[in-house]
Amino acid sequence: MRPDELNPLFAEVETLDGVGPKLMKPLGRLGLSRVRDLAYHLPDRFVTRRAVGNVDEAGEGEQIVIQLTPTEHKAPYNPGRGPYRILAQDAVGNIIAITYFGRASYSGKKLLPVGETRWVAGRLDRYGDMLQIVHPDHVLEEGGETLQRLCEPVYSLAEGLTQPKIGGLVGQSLAKLPDLPEWIEPGLFEREGWPAWSDALKLAHKGENAQARERLAYDELLANSLALMLVRADNRQRKGRALVGDGSRRGKLQLPFPLTGAQERSNREIAGDMAQVSPMLRLLQGDVGAGKTVVALEAMLVAVEAGAQAALLAPTEILARQHFETLRSMAAPTGVEIALLTGRDKGRARESILMGLMDGSIDMVVGTHAIFQDTVAYKDLGLVVIDEQHRFGVAQRLMLAKKGKTTPHTLAMTATPIPRTLTLAQYGEMEVSRLDELPPGRQAIDTLVFPQARMEEVADGVARHLETGQQAYWVCPMVNDNETLDIAAAEARYAALKERFGEAVVLVHGQLQADQKDAAMERFSSGEAKLLVATTVIEVGVDVPAATLMVIEQAERFGLAQLHQLRGRVGRGSEKSVCLLLRGDALSETGKKRLALMRETQDGFRIAEEDLELRGGGELLGTRQSGDTPFRIATLEQIQKWLPVAHDDAQMLVDHDGGLASERGKAARTLLYLMERDWGVQLLRGG
Ligand code: ADP
Ligand code: MG
Repeated sequence: MRPDELNPLFAEVETLDGVGPKLMKPLGRLGLSRVRDLAYHLPDRFVTRRAVGNVDEAGEGEQIVIQLTPTEHKAPYNPGRGPYRILAQDAVGNIIAITYFGRASYSGKKLLPVGETRWVAGRLDRYGDMLQIVHPDHVLEEGGETLQRLCEPVYSLAEGLTQPKIGGLVGQSLAKLPDLPEWIEPGLFEREGWPAWSDALKLAHKGENAQARERLAYDELLANSLALMLVRADNRQRKGRALVGDGSRRGKLQLPFPLTGAQERSNREIAGDMAQVSPMLRLLQGDVGAGKTVVALEAMLVAVEAGAQAALLAPTEILARQHFETLRSMAAPTGVEIALLTGRDKGRARESILMGLMDGSIDMVVGTHAIFQDTVAYKDLGLVVIDEQHRFGVAQRLMLAKKGKTTPHTLAMTATPIPRTLTLAQYGEMEVSRLDELPPGRQAIDTLVFPQARMEEVADGVARHLETGQQAYWVCPMVNDNETLDIAAAEARYAALKERFGEAVVLVHGQLQADQKDAAMERFSSGEAKLLVATTVIEVGVDVPAATLMVIEQAERFGLAQLHQLRGRVGRGSEKSVCLLLRGDALSETGKKRLALMRETQDGFRIAEEDLELRGGGELLGTRQSGDTPFRIATLEQIQKWLPVAHDDAQMLVDHDGGLASERGKAARTLLYLMERDWGVQLLRGG
């Protein structure tokens, strides 16, 4: 149960003064639904303004406070379309515009009547040959002098919100902060001279305060590490089953290649874990093409040798199908019964698979999350393999653990070679096996960067490539934060390429029906189709060795890890492979460096580490993370600096006070609820 003292923070935002139905939408869009969220809506930056007597004293782009007298209101031709401009005079007769867009026009109209002098605070910009202030932060009848040199927070907004409005709501939230017991380890707290929690939040809204920000980041990191540690501790206490294989099935495998040293090592680590009573919780981390599938297969065979069943969970139907085919053919000599189960299986076929899983005649099943629906019962599920772990949250992972009579062993696999610090953040509760050695004989992939504008040449290159009988991928980006628009863009590209290449082109994206998607994939993997146009659905797992050219549009929009994954789709056969990264015109310095890094190396772990450096260094105060870390407050720099400390501290706390019963332990529980990592606490008895 959430501690009572947190209740005011978890009250809905409607309980604040001045929040009606109108504000709910923009607040919702910013993810601000509770008082807590507002308190943690930290400013993106701060402004300090200077009072000027007239605009000649001000520079363009400067934040100023100035007295202006409106002379004329210019409404747009079509109300609601185009800006609402108010022309105003400064003390020496210069005319400048005060501009409003959209609904804000109404407030501008009211606040700035013609002929009456007002204090206006905002940023002075140029529009054509006119100076203007767009959406002033403040318009006051009197007292504008006080805005001078005041350090004001600037928050990210959504349509329908203004800085003063959100500032007011944040202020109300901060007034409700309770005093909470300190959860940070006393030695560290003192050494760093950090402010107490509620002070830190207040300070972080008031001005640039590195210590306050750092403390809040540390809280978030500590909560995350602690929750993962609790999962880990809970897992140790669960009853699992020791599965020791006799090698009878594995011995029958007839692999066309010897395993790499890294694969052998991983196999040993996994078999070692499975031989324990406490359930395995292990991550197999290996770059695209590192050969994770065969490692998974060996683990599954260990389970079968020991008389149990094994399940492999894939994130998509396409991948489930592909894994099924691969495993079935590799495992054929071992005589295991293997089945595929997806959400699409219906009727008799489905019934017979369900029967087989229940009576144990099926040894291994591959599928999407359908394999863990309530209607699916296993005779004796001993091992769950989860492919592409990052798509499953920890909470879902915990659900899976409930499927067996005893808790099954879990092997998670990811092809995302994230840096070590982030591995800790995402998978801190797991042991890690790294496949850091690629199978021998892989060819280097030539990576070239082209301006997007040279599309025609690129298409010519694709044409020449296809003429040699090889295949190619063409990846369209997800850029609009709007899947439908992105898919429309991909469809347009597909149409254009189809003009040129005819029936040899197929399209795959996330909104296709499953059977259409499969049909397209099937045509491509059989070699009938030569060019696969896709959105990032192909990111993971697809294996077509004859595809040796990869074109990625607007490459700068992708994360490096993602580019690396996409590139890994080629270079799988014996032919030389090429990757063309198309870039837009407006490429930032960091953007250039990132693409250069892609050109320079193919080592996923190195790309991950350097990407972290590149992004970590130049980061602005409070810039939100782009979704590839589990954190909202901690910046990459803070993560690098503090995560290892938080991790060790969480470990200490759990080792000494696993039930979180001491004073500090209780404070830490509060933290977990506050930071919404309470799935960690709920594992505790009486949590
Ligand atoms: P991952 O899932 O890690 O991206 P896969 O398991 O799909 O990689 O393996 C990629 C390719 O490498 C497959 O065609 C597989 O048969 C092959 N492979 C795996 N292990 C080896 C090895 N030790 N030597 C040579 N080829 C291998
Ligand atoms: Mg794979």
